[in-house]
Amino acid sequence: MTISQEIESKIDIVELVQRYVPLKKAGSLYKACCPFHSEKTPSFMVSATKNIAYCYGCHKGGGPIKFLMEIEKLEFREAMQMLAKEAGVELKTDFYKERGSNQTDIFEAYKIAANWYHEELYKNENSEKLAYAKRRGLTEETLKAFQIGYSGDSRGLWAQLKWRGMSDKDILDSGIFVSPHRDKFFGRIVFPIANFTGHTVGFTGRITDAGEPKYLNSPASRIFNKSEILYGLHLAKSSIVKLGYVIVVEGQMDTVKLHQAGFSNAVGISGTALTKEHIHLLRRLTTKIFLCLDMDKAGVNATFSSLDSLLNEEVDCKVIRVDGGKDPDEFIEGGGDFATLIAKSITPVQFFIDAGKSRFDFESVVGKTQVLRETLKYVRRMSNRIEIDMSVKYLARSLDISESVIYEELKWVKLPVRKTEESRKSGLDFWQTVVGYCSAYWFYDLFLSSIDYTSEHFEGIPSYDFIRSEILAHLGQSETSDPDTIKALELQVEAENEWAQRETILLKFSELVKRAQKLMFEHEKQALASSMDQNSLEYMQAHLGLISKGKKLGII
Ligand code: ZN
Repeated sequence: MTISQEIESKIDIVELVQRYVPLKKAGSLYKACCPFHSEKTPSFMVSATKNIAYCYGCHKGGGPIKFLMEIEKLEFREAMQMLAKEAGVELKTDFYKERGSNQTDIFEAYKIAANWYHEELYKNENSEKLAYAKRRGLTEETLKAFQIGYSGDSRGLWAQLKWRGMSDKDILDSGIFVSPHRDKFFGRIVFPIANFTGHTVGFTGRITDAGEPKYLNSPASRIFNKSEILYGLHLAKSSIVKLGYVIVVEGQMDTVKLHQAGFSNAVGISGTALTKEHIHLLRRLTTKIFLCLDMDKAGVNATFSSLDSLLNEEVDCKVIRVDGGKDPDEFIEGGGDFATLIAKSITPVQFFIDAGKSRFDFESVVGKTQVLRETLKYVRRMSNRIEIDMSVKYLARSLDISESVIYEELKWVKLPVRKTEESRKSGLDFWQTVVGYCSAYWFYDLFLSSIDYTSEHFEGIPSYDFIRSEILAHLGQSETSDPDTIKALELQVEAENEWAQRETILLKFSELVKRAQKLMFEHEKQALASSMDQNSLEYMQAHLGLISKGKKLGII
């Protein structure tokens, strides 16, 4: 028995999965809606006897280690470590050497850093900063629960991490430092950001006086992706389940202030709208979501965008508006009772109506028509007929227009051409990054040799045009499309990797190649589906061929 088999044999997959997804017994199996993709009928199966959890829809999952890797975004080694502890299996250090990995646990580095910052806040020389935090209304209890800290010593943390056995390279790769001995959050109040299970995966540093930027975040990394992390979720989890709903606010201060005011079911997004990934995280706990984002222009746009993501996700959503354009932090500091705002929360349709009313002259026929049409664009995209009918009735009542007229209007609403998930993910940003790496480090040949596609495969896909023309330029078959853009991209990539060693850069690049491979594969799959009759035998055969190719490439 290998060590991983030994560990897995001592872990009960049903118990493990249940920490993330509620399971229902179905015969000899357990079923659930997949935590890895969006679905309405459960295709995620857990077998206690086989000790595996697997989704028939998206093919994710496997044994306990694989499941944990995927749900927590861990490396194999890290998942092993976590489960070994639970299983009471001792891991020999040689094991890591066998697998060619000697990097120090990145979670450990973040844990040490979070503790370090927190302790710094209570040092005598930083008493002013502690006083500042308290002036901002943060209680002792909150500072402890959220492990809020301060970075007052730009070199101390480095020394601490070295002392704990980390190499210079690992410390730099952690993203906590901008250069050797220069702590990125120096001089800032530090909020640790934890993942679903409570492991610190990043930080936000807030400046204590005038200056820019007000907030500084950890760079995105393998374990920290803003679109998948909700601030405070690890502390809010049990309250969300108990109270049956979640309040989503912007940023750290709003989150902690709500917790202080007794709303321990609040979580924060930072600088993004609510994403599908966020929603899937929350849906493990509740289907009732209250959105309470700022009502300035950026906040309203984030609300629209969040409502967009929430559409057809089978969640009940309400929008909370704070009176007088304040944020929840200011509202609570001003003595406001947040419960009254929850009681006054509105439906997404009402939010659209109100937004329309502020843009168009509602008293005129033209204006009223505009408000209706804008709102119907949202209604039109609903897939649930009951929800559509309820929305139409609601519109009829609040706009004083008959239901039949609204239904008639609804037929004529043109849906804007929406980017699919795939095209959103394959947006220029991603390919620009790839080109940046290729160009800055002469990785074009590496790119072409590690990907299973050639430049021809990129033909005719608009978002791929950029990389295609650059590949052709590299092969000497055309001119660089825009030398300045290429230079800018190189610079950006080089700046990002200024302190990284070559192995790290190669590792990052291989992640990009993997994703490129996946995008190309997805595209091939879609092209196949649209080029043939999906009920034909040829299609089935071609599809099977493609699936086995995907398996060979390690994509499925
Ligand atoms: Zn799935």
